[in-house]
Amino acid sequence: MVRTTGCADLIARVSGWSTEPTYTRQVTEDGASGGFQSIGQTHAETLVRTTLAPDRGTASLLIHGPTGAGKGAFATDVIALLMCEATDPGARPCNECRSCRLARAGTHPDLVIGSPGAWQEARSTGESTVAAARRWLADASGAPISGTRRVVLVEQLERAGEDIQNVLLKALEEPTPRHLYLLLSDEPSRLLPTIRSRVQSVRIGPLPRGTLVALLMDLDRLPEEQALALARLSGGLAGRARRFAQRPEWLDWRRTTQTELLALLTRGWADRMAAARELIEQASRLTPRSPTADVAPDEPEAVRVPASAQRAAALAVTDAWIDLGRDLLVSAAGHPDQAASRELFADLEQTGRRIGAPALTAVLGVLDTVRDGIESNANPRLALEAAMLTWPRVAVEQP
Ligand SMILES: [Zn+2]
Repeated sequence: MVRTTGCADLIARVSGWSTEPTYTRQVTEDGASGGFQSIGQTHAETLVRTTLAPDRGTASLLIHGPTGAGKGAFATDVIALLMCEATDPGARPCNECRSCRLARAGTHPDLVIGSPGAWQEARSTGESTVAAARRWLADASGAPISGTRRVVLVEQLERAGEDIQNVLLKALEEPTPRHLYLLLSDEPSRLLPTIRSRVQSVRIGPLPRGTLVALLMDLDRLPEEQALALARLSGGLAGRARRFAQRPEWLDWRRTTQTELLALLTRGWADRMAAARELIEQASRLTPRSPTADVAPDEPEAVRVPASAQRAAALAVTDAWIDLGRDLLVSAAGHPDQAASRELFADLEQTGRRIGAPALTAVLGVLDTVRDGIESNANPRLALEAAMLTWPRVAVEQP
């Protein structure tokens, strides 16, 4: 028997917000549930189910949307849908059969996962990343092992250069019924138009605030007030909101980091350079690291943080920084109500106006470039130091 844990009543109580699409979760008596587990992506799910209908021939999908929107969770739903053994296609994914469980664990023998980062690491001596990508794709295009179709998942495709994208394009140009390509990207604008024209594009976007609030209250058992605060802070991005809900220490870290960045507006270069290093260290304490991870060789012993953890930490700092910059920008532009962190920082609007919208727009451009640099292997500390140089200087107001 299926019961529905509806949250429409909760949504209705959150006045002024969209109540569509409503959020419902199907739960069977033994606690297992069938269907997609991503919440609020009804349109994307319908599009995928239509595109992948058996009578539609072969198709490749590009799942895209901002970082933290829940692309990974949605891709897992699609993989389970494709792998599920339920006889009734309408009941897929059942989330109970062996294939569903393996698909959700990422260990299904017919699931192949690659990314530009993984290809770079998989290079043999003297081999280029393009050659490694070509080798990986040749392996991936082998025959299915346990079922009738292989799912080839490529993550972070925007990090692939044009030459690698061209290698992938060849595979997309020769589709076979035995392979389905699933591409994931934060920034589809950085993909070749020829790739984009070969795939069905599926956008995973922010959720209506009421939907996300209801989701956080139900799945993460948050009180309404906290769920509201998280929904606002995460800009409606479900993946990001749920990460905050599951690791509340990240929220404290984010507030501390943004407070420090605001304070740095009035400080000199020496303080800023020291802060770049401290911010990475503080964030890396929250980033899980493996004991065998690589260590950046140019760091003194006392601050040795594995390079992969440094990169993840610097990306987290940059994201918090970009969010703060956006909040200052919308406040400066006369819309302080749209600032996610307006409840945390009382003088956000005043500070935003003093810096001015043109300077804030320029800073956000630099921060985007810095973020790209860190993702494509720039030294994380040097990248943050470069960002510190463009962070505006605001004179301390005399009392
Ligand atoms: Zn199944």
